[in-house]
Amino acid sequence: MTKTVLVVGGGPGGAAAAFWLARNGVEVHLVEKKRYPREKACGDGLTPRAIRELLDMGFDFDGLDLHRIEGLRAYAGGLKMEMPWPEHSAYPNWGATMRRADLDGVVAGMAEKHGATIEQGTTAAPIVADDTITGVRLTNDEGARVVHPDLVIIADGSNSRFGRNVGASRRKDYPFGLAVRAYYESPHSDDRFIESQLDIRDAEGRAMPGYGWVFPLGDGEINVGAGLISTFKGWKDINTSRILDAYIASLPDHWKVTEVTPHTKPIGGKLPMSLSVGPKVGRNWVIIGDASGAVNPFNGEGIDYAYETGRMAARWVAEAAAGDDEALAGYSRELEDVYGDYHRVARVFVKAIGNPVVMRTLTTVGLRSRPLMEWTLKVMANLLDPDEAKMSEHVYTAIERVVNVGSR
Ligand SMILES: Cc1cc2nc3c(=O)[nH]c(=O)nc-3n(C[C@H](O)[C@H](O)[C@H](O)COP(=O)(O)OP(=O)(O)OC[C@H]3O[C@@H](n4cnc5c(N)ncnc54)[C@H](O)[C@@H]3O)c2cc1C
Repeated sequence: MTKTVLVVGGGPGGAAAAFWLARNGVEVHLVEKKRYPREKACGDGLTPRAIRELLDMGFDFDGLDLHRIEGLRAYAGGLKMEMPWPEHSAYPNWGATMRRADLDGVVAGMAEKHGATIEQGTTAAPIVADDTITGVRLTNDEGARVVHPDLVIIADGSNSRFGRNVGASRRKDYPFGLAVRAYYESPHSDDRFIESQLDIRDAEGRAMPGYGWVFPLGDGEINVGAGLISTFKGWKDINTSRILDAYIASLPDHWKVTEVTPHTKPIGGKLPMSLSVGPKVGRNWVIIGDASGAVNPFNGEGIDYAYETGRMAARWVAEAAAGDDEALAGYSRELEDVYGDYHRVARVFVKAIGNPVVMRTLTTVGLRSRPLMEWTLKVMANLLDPDEAKMSEHVYTAIERVVNVGSR
């Protein structure tokens, strides 16, 4: 008899996992504690990697209110550079923006069309014995009940209470991100470039490792935000809302943001990165997306990695559901094979930019050289072609080169 699978959380990770399981004919039940359309603190930005995942799931790009993006406009130290998304053998050369309040429900709906059961407004809590999830308590307006899935995919996002309750924890020596965003009206909302400010500063004018962004939504509004990484001294005392205020006050004129208050209250969240949460696999569960710390440390991107880890987990869980008791371990191995090297380099990089001198030098020197900047965009968005030379060597060399130039 095939086994039953429960997915906890209906963000990009959980919805993608449910989609791929259902499409493979596995009986899958997803529970989401909120109801779609549900708000999520996010920049609403989709890179070409995320577009690839959505294309593979058959997302209707023409029928939906999604704003296509051609590339990135970067600012630092008074310099500016506009770069199209690179050509790549596997990924499209375009990205998009779409409000998470809309996007996540659509992907969950796609999973439902393939046969997944999507239960909204229901919170899951694990019952654990002997390292195994023996039951899951589901609570909603109608009361509480206990279900007994054979396999569980944990996709409950960055706070991941469910994950912590089954014994997963975050490595404190790995980097960590914090970000905040708000929506503003702008007559320039149909811009086809997302924008980032690479030298954001705190109230005292100190350079911070991170970036400010404007992601145009194409519907009269822009998503404006700021994100920081935990590798600099004093990051625990940082107030991200103040950094956002300072960034908004310095936005380029073309956005014509004149109001002081945003359309919606700014909201923020954590970015667990570099696959910092473990173990990734238990006796009858796996953990994916933000709950596993899957965010890319180079750029804070997490939607795509939630889709990718959801898809990967679905493959191994489908094998386990068909009776292969050893299959789940394959998920952990595949994560290491696919992302291990990339994250090792990323950790070195974000540690280096925790030094304000390196951060300042990287951004200003980088923006003086188009080839360096185009290559940096490829690395940061994880868009290097497999046949391009070994990435880690490039990154180390580039960082060294830039740091040396800066300290001359
Ligand atoms: C301010 C900010 C800006 C960002 N900008 C971008 C961006 O522009 N592009 C990008 O790619 N990434 C961005 N990210 C990261 C991105 O939002 C996350 O990486 C992504 O949402 C991870 O998806 P997920 O499915 O793992 O988790 P989530 O999207 O957090 O989904 C988890 C779901 O689980 C549900 N849940 C939680 N607990 C339970 C429970 N016990 N029972 C049932 N359901 C539960 C939650 O309600 C939620 O819907 C940003 C993050 C922040 C904070």
